[in-house]
Amino acid sequence: MPNRESGNAPSAARWWRGNLHMHTFWSDGRAFPEEAVAMYKARGYHFLGLSDHNVFQDDPCRWVAETGRERPFAEYLAAFPRAAVRTGGGGVREARLSTFSELAAMFDEPDRFLLVPAFEATRTVEYGSGRSHQVHMNVVNAPALLPLLASPGFVRTESGVRLAEFISRHASETAALARSLGREAVFMLNHPVWQWYDIPPEVLAETPEVRFFEVCNNGTEIEPCPDLPQDGFDTDRFWDVANALRARRGLPLLYGVGGDDTHCYRGEPHGGMLMPFNAWTLVRSASLDAASLVAAMQAGDFVACEGLEPEDVSFDRASGTLSVSVAAKPGAARTIRFFVSKADFSETPLRTFSARPARDGDRTTHERDFRVYDGKIGLEAKTVAGAPGEALRASYSLAPDDLYVRARIEEPGEPLCSAFLHPRHRLVAWTQPYRLTEMR
Ligand SMILES: [Zn+2]
Ligand SMILES: [Zn+2]
Repeated sequence: MPNRESGNAPSAARWWRGNLHMHTFWSDGRAFPEEAVAMYKARGYHFLGLSDHNVFQDDPCRWVAETGRERPFAEYLAAFPRAAVRTGGGGVREARLSTFSELAAMFDEPDRFLLVPAFEATRTVEYGSGRSHQVHMNVVNAPALLPLLASPGFVRTESGVRLAEFISRHASETAALARSLGREAVFMLNHPVWQWYDIPPEVLAETPEVRFFEVCNNGTEIEPCPDLPQDGFDTDRFWDVANALRARRGLPLLYGVGGDDTHCYRGEPHGGMLMPFNAWTLVRSASLDAASLVAAMQAGDFVACEGLEPEDVSFDRASGTLSVSVAAKPGAARTIRFFVSKADFSETPLRTFSARPARDGDRTTHERDFRVYDGKIGLEAKTVAGAPGEALRASYSLAPDDLYVRARIEEPGEPLCSAFLHPRHRLVAWTQPYRLTEMR
C-alpha cells in the first residue's frame, strides 16, 4: 500500500483501499456477508460497501434457506459458529443474514477497517420495440433505501421515461435522502458500457448531478461486436466523450471508480469475472471514516485501480500540471499516458451506426446506436515509458486548448478483469480528470 509522503503530522492524508461494489446473499451474491467482508479485510482492504441489489441490509429477520447453498452453509457455519440457524418450513435449515449494523460492529476497527452503507439501485428502462437500458446505480453512505425502490423486487422496470430524466430522478432522491440523514452520499452510475454502451455517454452531459461512474467493473460480460472498431468503444472512450461534452457545457467533470462487482467468492466458474480483488478504488484522506472518504471522492482525490496502484498523484492548479508517480517493481516496465480533450472538438459525429453485440450472455439482445467522434476527444497527449524495474514519474501541463487532463498508468501483464471491455494485457490505474477550476 503506497502511502503519500506528507510529513509526520497526525492529520497527514494517506491512501485507503476499498471496494464499493459487491453482492452477498442479501441479493444475488454467493456468500454470507460475514464471509465477503472477512475475505476482503484479510486481504488488507480498508473499506467496503456491500452494494446488494435494491436492498439495504437493515432487516434483522431475513433468513436464507440451505437448499442450493449447501457448500456456503457448511463453510459459513464452520467459520462463524455463532451464526443464527433455524429449521424452516419443510424441515429446511435456514440461516439469518447479519445486518449492516451487526456487520459493522463485528468488523470495523479504527484506522484499520470500515464498512460503509451501500446498495445498488437496479433498474431497467424500456424504450419501445423491445429495447431497454439496464440502469444500475450505487448509493454509498446512505443507510436507507431510496423511496423509489420501496416496493419489493429484484429489478424494477419502467417505460415511457427519458433515460436522462430517469437517472436524474434517482440522483435527486439520493441527494434528498442524504440531506435528510445529515450526511453526504456518493451516487454512482455503474457499468454504463454493459451491455455495449447500454447507456450512451451523451446522457452524462444531461445529468451533471452524476459525479461518478465505473470506469472499471469486473462484470461486463459482453463479447466484442464484430461491426465495431475494437479499440474505439471501451470505458476510456466513454469517459472522454462524457467529459468533453460536460466541459464544453461548463458542467462538473465525471469521476471514474473501480469495483469488483463481486458475486462469486468460491472460484465458481464465471470466466474470472465477478471475483474478488481485481478492481478497486484508492481514496486519499486523513482518516478512515465515511464522511472523509466521501469528501475525498467528491473532491476527486482518488484513483480507480485494476491490479496497479500509483504512489502519488498531484495536480498543481497554479500551473495546471498533473504529476503521477509509481513505485519500482522488479521486472515491471510501466507507462504513463496523459489524455486530454481539445476545446475545438466537433460534436457532429464522424459517423453513426447501429450494431448488435456478438454475444450478450443469456439476455435478449437489441441493437445499440453508436456515435464516433473526432480524435480531439480523448487525445493521447503525452506518453512516458519507464525502464523495467524502475520507479516512474511523469507530468503534463495543460495547454490553453485542453479541456482537462487525466492519466493512466499501465503495466504489461494479464489483466485481472477478464471481461471484454477491459484493457488487454496490462494492469491499469486511472487518475481522475483535472482542470484549472473544478465545480463542486
Ligand atoms: Zn449492476
Ligand atoms: Zn452489482
